[in-house]
Amino acid sequence: MDILDVKNLSKVYGNKIVFTALDNISFTIEEGEFVGIMGPSGSGKTTLLNMISTVDKPTSGEIRIKDKNPLKLKGDNLALFRRRELGFVFQDFNLLDTLTVGENIVLPLTLDGVPVKNQDDELNRISKILGIENLINKRTFEISGGEAQRTSIARALIHNPTLLLADEPTGNLDSKAAMVVMELFKKINKDEKVTTMMVTHDAFSASYCNRILFIKDGTMYNEIYKGDTRQLFYQEIIDVLALMGGGN
Ligand code: ADP
Ligand code: MG
Repeated sequence: MDILDVKNLSKVYGNKIVFTALDNISFTIEEGEFVGIMGPSGSGKTTLLNMISTVDKPTSGEIRIKDKNPLKLKGDNLALFRRRELGFVFQDFNLLDTLTVGENIVLPLTLDGVPVKNQDDELNRISKILGIENLINKRTFEISGGEAQRTSIARALIHNPTLLLADEPTGNLDSKAAMVVMELFKKINKDEKVTTMMVTHDAFSASYCNRILFIKDGTMYNEIYKGDTRQLFYQEIIDVLALMGGGN
């Protein structure tokens, strides 16, 4: 089953001086996939993510998430759709410093009015998966960058989203923390069957995906699937990036 269906998507910025950031992009993501989006700086990756996450509207084309068109939703319905169907992980974690780690993680449930007992059950479940049970009562300034990202992944997953969206989730992490975070993305995808789309310019992080879509100048440039090993996939990704050029 298709979780995400992007059809002939275009985005033109500006009115006097126009710039085509996305030019007729089409692709689908199936249930259970872990897809990476790569491309040089300025190729349209964040623009694409913003359309899918309904932060911004496309100039033309269609997006369907589990056969719903989020662009047709308004106000409360759109807010509910985003909160229930989508999970977001950002480069800079976006945690609230006034809350504890645990309070940050259950925030989507708090906003949905879920009873505290159920919130606690879900918090226990998800914090175990991410190995952060011992951090629940800490404040955000008491944890490392890697721990902060694991916290934000827990928050993104606590309501079992249809689609997990990540924009450069390892962009602010050192290589060791990046590896831990990518291993967790892989585990969540494999064991919890979370369909994931991740934007990254980092070949190492991308090598954890099952498929990579390469975007250049707002158009689809290439697509590769993971073969036998992550190491081999990493080398293939490096090769495509080198061919594509544009300086990552
Ligand atoms: P990426 O995430 O791949 O680096 P972006 O999606 O951020 O690329 O940007 C793609 C192109 O669109 C860039 O050339 C950028 O300058 C342009 N762009 C992005 N946002 C806007 C905007 N709000 N107004 C005008 N141009 C924009
Ligand atoms: Mg970007």
